[in-house]
Amino acid sequence: MAGRILIADDVTTNRIALNVKLSAAFYEVLQAGSGAEAIAMAGHERPDLILLALDLPDMNAIETCRRLRQNPKTADIPVLIISARSAREARIEALRAGAEDFLHKPVNEALLLARVRNILRTRDSDEELRMHDGMNREITGRELGFAEPAHSFSPPCDVVLIARKRETTRAWLDALGAYEKEGIGGQIKALGRSEALTVAESDPAPGIFVLEGGTGSSDDGLYLISELRSRARTRHAGIIVILPEEEPGREPAAAWGAKALDLGANEILFAGFDGEELALRLSRQIARKQQADRLRETLRNGLRLAVTDPLTGLHNRRFAMASLRRIASQARASGRPFALMLLDLDRFKQVNDRHGHGGGDIVLREVAARLRSEIRGADLLARIGGEEFLIVMPDTNINQARRAAERIRRRIIENPIRLPRSDSPLFVSLSIGVALGGGSEAAPGVEELIEQADRALYAAKSHGRNQVNISRSAA
Ligand code: GH3
Ligand code: MG
Ligand code: MG
Repeated sequence: MAGRILIADDVTTNRIALNVKLSAAFYEVLQAGSGAEAIAMAGHERPDLILLALDLPDMNAIETCRRLRQNPKTADIPVLIISARSAREARIEALRAGAEDFLHKPVNEALLLARVRNILRTRDSDEELRMHDGMNREITGRELGFAEPAHSFSPPCDVVLIARKRETTRAWLDALGAYEKEGIGGQIKALGRSEALTVAESDPAPGIFVLEGGTGSSDDGLYLISELRSRARTRHAGIIVILPEEEPGREPAAAWGAKALDLGANEILFAGFDGEELALRLSRQIARKQQADRLRETLRNGLRLAVTDPLTGLHNRRFAMASLRRIASQARASGRPFALMLLDLDRFKQVNDRHGHGGGDIVLREVAARLRSEIRGADLLARIGGEEFLIVMPDTNINQARRAAERIRRRIIENPIRLPRSDSPLFVSLSIGVALGGGSEAAPGVEELIEQADRALYAAKSHGRNQVNISRSAA
């Protein structure tokens, strides 16, 4: 199912005409004859999009849109308003009331369907982002107890205006004039078309591109939209396209606009617009982009937090186990051995008892930093318990593992740690149990390997601590 669309229009023939177009494109269509009916149906049917005729018998589409926005149950359903006349005031009001767009009749069918596809697609990806964000909060919140990162600040979003001729962008800038400051925090720059891809590679790239489209025979404007959508720095930019003045029967521009929307343009505007409309659309795209960027950033942070130990910055147990399984299966495939070490600080309880929990934390961080500097890039290092660490070394045989473990043990004991509130440096030691995995199909599984290393570690502790002990199965 392509999606569910509610049409509100009191003229039956209009509804039928729209219904035919939308049904042919496999949308499920619901119909309402007034604003009140549309609001009621929106509440219980939850359509994916609402198409409102501007003039409805009880209240106009703008008022209907406002009421839909005020109700939390319908606030997020996109609204498209279709008007029999091109009314400037109504257009601006509609955008201010939160309508996605305002189309006037005769509505070009290709453009209408492209706008519908475009709105539904944007809504899908926004929803996906929010869903991931929700999952992410649940994971990080519940299992790791992190506070959510505070994100209130968004860097300003720069806007570039791109047209073939300087007069065109100058006219746009003039039109923007007084409205420029409305919600546009960043700079606005005018460029020629040849400079568009250069600026797309700059860092940071502009957040919003306003492009001239449609005229002439060449379609390099369309090519530009695909380019912007496929480049890493502009993939999530807002793209507003300005088409030549809309006249009934001016099919080529509308067809171009439809293609632009399908390629990923966010908004279409017809030349002859006034500055206030462009300013409104600009500030709306900026707000959307900043919100989506913040969500993406939170998501990235959340993913990182979900696999990181906050005290030491090392990987946590969850990450370590997943990574260990991957290393083990690669080793089985390659036939090469890998070493697994469990490292546990000796008499660490005493460190806490003498120097407080804060002192203990400093020691844990220092030990983590030293371990990090003793391993190779391909090795895995994680803090898997309070004062317990795991190191996995791919492509490592038993002698190499023994030497590495010895080096690590000495690195810890031979360099006492300075604590801020203590005069004498603190000597800390650790015990290491080593097991060997991989090398053959018959190699022990990951759980068995950890048990071997754990038994070796336990033996190192009972033999006096500050020593390396190799599992008998590996020796
Ligand atoms: P052993 O030589 O047998 O390993 O003795 P131990 O004292 O190191 O072992 P034990 O398991 O009895 O104590 C571990 C201590 O580690 C107890 C706990 O308070 C402390 N610990 C665990 N996590 C943290 C942490 O995040 N910070 C601090 N400061 N201490 C921690
Ligand atoms: Mg322990
Ligand atoms: Mg210990």
